[in-house]
Amino acid sequence: MLQDSFNRIHDYLRISLTDVCNFRCQYCIPNEEAQFMPSSHLMQLNEIESIATQFVNLGIKKIRLTGGEPLARKDAADIILALSKLPVKLTLTTNGSRIHQFIDVFKAAKIRSINVSLDTLDAAKFNQITKRDLFTQVLNNIKLLINEGFHVKLNMVVMRSFNDNEILNFIDWTKNLPIHVRFIEFMPFTGNQWDNEKVFTFQEILTLASSKYQYAKLREEPNETAKSFQVNGYQGTFAVISTMTAPFCNTCNRLRLTADGKMKNCLFSNGEIDILNAHRNGANILPLIQQSLANKALALGGQFEGDYHQVDPHAITNRSMIKIGG
Ligand code: SAM
Ligand code: SF4
Repeated sequence: MLQDSFNRIHDYLRISLTDVCNFRCQYCIPNEEAQFMPSSHLMQLNEIESIATQFVNLGIKKIRLTGGEPLARKDAADIILALSKLPVKLTLTTNGSRIHQFIDVFKAAKIRSINVSLDTLDAAKFNQITKRDLFTQVLNNIKLLINEGFHVKLNMVVMRSFNDNEILNFIDWTKNLPIHVRFIEFMPFTGNQWDNEKVFTFQEILTLASSKYQYAKLREEPNETAKSFQVNGYQGTFAVISTMTAPFCNTCNRLRLTADGKMKNCLFSNGEIDILNAHRNGANILPLIQQSLANKALALGGQFEGDYHQVDPHAITNRSMIKIGG
């Protein structure tokens, strides 16, 4: 069992497949000329299978594939199909641009739920955020997933004075579509020009929603990071992931593996344990996994706490989001 020193049981592993991405979201990737890891540094298919199996034997019940863009990896389909044989709930987070090429793989892997990131419903702003002209493709792919019966969650990172004016449009979208929008408070990572002024808070989102809708709070699953709501009579739901103003660390059940096989016990941890190289050297990785877990801080990687206005992004030691795997 994967239990940390605060008695939190961990049964959810996020595996980053690559730090490469076909988008250049300004809040995620430090710059257009970013250096990506050489592929020899990445966990290979058989290594992912073997390491994931060892995590599953320790009690992992859910695996999310992420990145970078997980579907940008050449052998993504093989990895998905291999992991689908494990006794876990398999899912992924994607920027949505390549879903049409993978829909049959998702079905074969019995994936039921997929998170797609979309920060705007405006094509020009989409190009500005991602630096790629793929808005229509992403939108079509979201519709494809819904038509194929997938449970679709939409991740929208809210940034003040940039896309907070679209919150109500996203909620409107949930009227006739069974889509689950999740507004994410903007978080600080290396090189992402985070500034506390840009955080549009959980409370502000709810106040805005209340100005237009009657909505109800939905029941939370254990370990849920999102606080969910539904406008009366609407098909879909909306939620807020309030990492900056109301963190959910006390029920955290998540562990992470970066694409180069380093274990991170928290999105914000500065410590990493090299699982891949130990595995390549034939070492037993189980004590390393337990050591990483034992090092887990009570909250936010031990790097900040309290009022987010006081957070100094330069004092946080971490990778950029694209190299962690969100
Ligand atoms: N490429 C995939 C995608 O965009 O969905 C998966 C990786 S991406 C790093 C995972 C999630 O992290 C996305 O929903 C993205 O919007 C979110 N994210 C990235 N940087 C963030 C930040 N600074 N604050 C909040 N969420 C962020
Ligand atoms: Fe790529 Fe996702 Fe980061 Fe955007 S948020 S740059 S799509 S990894």
